[in-house]
Order: sequence, then structure tokens, then C-alpha cells
Amino acid sequence: MFGAISRSVLVFAPTAVRQSRCIASLSALPDTYQMLYKTCRDFAEGELKPNAAKYDRDHLYPGEAIKKMGELGLMSIAVPEELGGAGLDYLAYAIALEEVSRGCASAGVIMSVNNSLYLGPVQGWGTDKQKQEYITPFCGGDTIGCFALSEPGNGSDAGAASTTAKDGGDKWILNGTKCWITNGYESKASVVFATTDKSLKHKGISAFIVPKPIKGLELGKKEDKLGIRGSSTCSLIFEDCNIPKENILGQPGLGFKIAMMTLDAGRIGIASQALGIAQASLDVAVDYASKRIAFGKPIMKLQAIQNKLADMAMQLESARLLTWRAAWLKDNKKPYTKEAAMAKLAASEAATFLSHQCIQILGGMGYVSDMPAERHYRDARITEIYEGTSEIQRLVIAGQVIKEYGF
Ligand SMILES: Cc1cc2nc3c(=O)[nH]c(=O)nc-3n(C[C@H](O)[C@H](O)[C@H](O)COP(=O)(O)OP(=O)(O)OC[C@H]3O[C@@H](n4cnc5c(N)ncnc54)[C@H](O)[C@@H]3O)c2cc1C
Repeated sequence: MFGAISRSVLVFAPTAVRQSRCIASLSALPDTYQMLYKTCRDFAEGELKPNAAKYDRDHLYPGEAIKKMGELGLMSIAVPEELGGAGLDYLAYAIALEEVSRGCASAGVIMSVNNSLYLGPVQGWGTDKQKQEYITPFCGGDTIGCFALSEPGNGSDAGAASTTAKDGGDKWILNGTKCWITNGYESKASVVFATTDKSLKHKGISAFIVPKPIKGLELGKKEDKLGIRGSSTCSLIFEDCNIPKENILGQPGLGFKIAMMTLDAGRIGIASQALGIAQASLDVAVDYASKRIAFGKPIMKLQAIQNKLADMAMQLESARLLTWRAAWLKDNKKPYTKEAAMAKLAASEAATFLSHQCIQILGGMGYVSDMPAERHYRDARITEIYEGTSEIQRLVIAGQVIKEYGF
């Protein structure tokens, strides 16, 4: 299972960096996960963390770093080796994505979207031909994909999609606008959801692979965002965009199911991104608290600060365990919808809490861009919104709990 990734991930020669962290639960995992963790950690410390402020300030897509991540196998972790991927599992993905996001949350979401939201559905529902054409070239980091579900008129209510795909004989004709699309600018293909039969409501939604550029597809403006500013977000505007008939993913009407199952897996990715942001906040807080002197001693010695560190560490560890559990369930082909929603909810709220507390521990220095705390605070916020808001995660969890009680 660990063939190609072992080779590609493990040959990366790490730069000498200070290892400031011990994940207790990691030591219980097989060596391969620990080596993957160390490789990602060294890569993030050496390549991502030093540049993350620049990507954020200049809205800069971290293209070179993403290519290197591709070379390490990180852009296609769960894709089988025969298709060009790393042939690993979702637990490996969660561990790697956390470390990447700890270095740079923008790189984290770019990686998450390519792995879970683009490659995931093509791998799950694509034909052999689609897999050859739309998976293999998207594994190496120089070509990436995106996922287009949300529309200006509906986000949480994805079943109300108004983008249409009309049967045009030997082609599908797409019309409508998809918005908030991560990787929208750089991607060379999108998984797009459109209605093939409006009368069937969500059961009339189908999924398509749309190559890019293509006639009839324009990009909207690049959104000016609060955080994750190194990743692009834009609208995809379809006007009589003709795509080959064979580009449907799965069967007509399967789109909503594909979207929901894809988002279950995606939530493990966003949970891991949130964990990375939370961990980075704890790193900054501990480091600063060890150096800042107030009333004659480092603030780390103050019980009020220690209480914050304790709460931060507890939220982080519990969210990590939920995330790893969801990944383990997926890897072992067990139901994981509830657990992925719990992981995403807990980790995103932990990221918000930890980045907030980090600023408090840094005082004035937390509020300015000389320190990364304010970036972590801005980056954390999106994790409570995309791939299902916190309100939607609670709906998903409650729905499953009620079902478990037989109602
Ligand atoms: C930076 C960024 C990147 C994104 N990337 C992508 C992407 O790559 N692909 C993609 O398809 N989409 C993407 N999105 C869209 C994202 O998934 C949606 O913004 C999100 O699902 C919420 O939808 P909405 O913005 O339309 O909010 P709405 O659905 O209008 O919700 C507004 C508020 O109402 C609440 N609400 C809605 N329905 C309910 C309910 N039933 N019960 C309780 N509360 C409810 C919500 O929780 C929220 O608080 C991205 C968004 C952003 C900001």
C-alpha cells in the first residue's frame, strides 16, 4: 500500500528545523505514518511557513510549493499508484494535510480540494477513460482540479441548483453560474453539478467533468478574501458551454449523491486543514509566552496563560482524534458521515478558538501582521463555512443521531 508514496514522500531530504511538537497519538501509529508526518512537517517548515505571509499579503498562488507537494505525492494521496497517485489512505491524508496547513492554510485548501473534491469523485465514479484523462495528469501538482457545486442563489441548499445541462445529442450544453470555486483560476478541469431534469429536484442533478479552458466558460473576478488568500476563489460562468457527451460522471441524476458523498470525504480534509491552523496557533502562543516577560517572569508562568494553553491543547487533541477516527472509518469502509461532520465541526471551532486565544496571549503583537497570529485567525474563519457551515454539520450529526435511535 505504501509503495510509491513511500518512495516519493520519504526520499525528501529535510532541512534542519526545530521539532517543537509531540503528537502523543502519532507514536501509536505504524512507522510509515510517522515518516510521512516528519516529511510533511519538514517540508512545511522549510518551504511553506517562511512564505505563507507573502502568499497571504500578495494573494499569491503558491505554484512552486504545490508542484513540490505533487512530487512528494501529496496532491493525490489516496489515488492508486497505477493511476499515478500515492496509493495511501485517508489517515495518511489527514496527517499530511494538517502539517501542510500548519505551514500554510492556503496550500492546505488547494491540496484538500484537489485530493478530496476533484480527484475523489473522478476516482469514485469515473470510467477507465475518464480516470486516465482526468486523474493521472492531476496527480503531480502542476495541474490541479476544482469542484463546482455552490451557486449565487444556493450554497447550503445545494439541491436547489439552477445551472442546467441540456442533452444536445452528442454533447451536453451547460448554462448557469457556479460561485466561490476554490482553485477556480488555476484548475484545468472541474467537477460541475448541473440539473438535467428540473422536475426531479435534487434527483435531477448530474455531475460532469468540464475541461478548462473551454468555449462557453468564463471566469468571474478573483474574490478578495479575509483569509486563505493564497488560494484563488472565483465564479465559473457557463454560457452555452458544450462538453462531450461522455463527460458525465456516473449516471444522469446521480449528481447530488456524488456531491454529498464527496463532501463527506472533503470534510475530513477541511477538519485536517483546521487542525493545522489550530496547531500553528498553539505553536505561536507557546513560543511567545515562553519569551514575553511581564511582572518579572515569562507570561508562560502565569496561571491565567496556562489555563488558556490547557484549553487550547485539549480542544486541539480532541478534534484531532475525531478527525483521525473519521479517516479510519472511511479507510475501513465503514459509515462515516456523522463522524466526518463531527470532525469538521470540532476542528473548525477549535481553529477559531485557538487562533482567538493565540491573539489574546500575544496581546498587541497578536493584532499586527509582524506575527502570524492574525493570519491564523483570518484563515481559521473559513473552515466554519465551506464544505458545509457549522449549522449544516449540526444538522447532519443530529439527523444521524436521531436515525440511530430508530426515529
Ligand atoms: C473561500 C470560499 C471557498 C469556497 N470554495 C468552494 C468550492 O470550491 N466549491 C463550491 O462548490 N463551493 C465553495 N464555497 C461555497 C461554500 O461551500 C458555501 O459558501 C457554504 O456552503 C455556505 O453557503 P452560502 O454561502 O450560500 O450560505 P447560505 O447557504 O446562504 O447560508 C447562510 C447562513 O444560513 C445558515 N443556514 C442555511 N441553511 C440552513 C439550515 N437548513 N439550517 C440552519 N442554518 C442554515 C448557514 O449556516 C449560514 O449561517 C466556498 C466558499 C468560500 C467563502
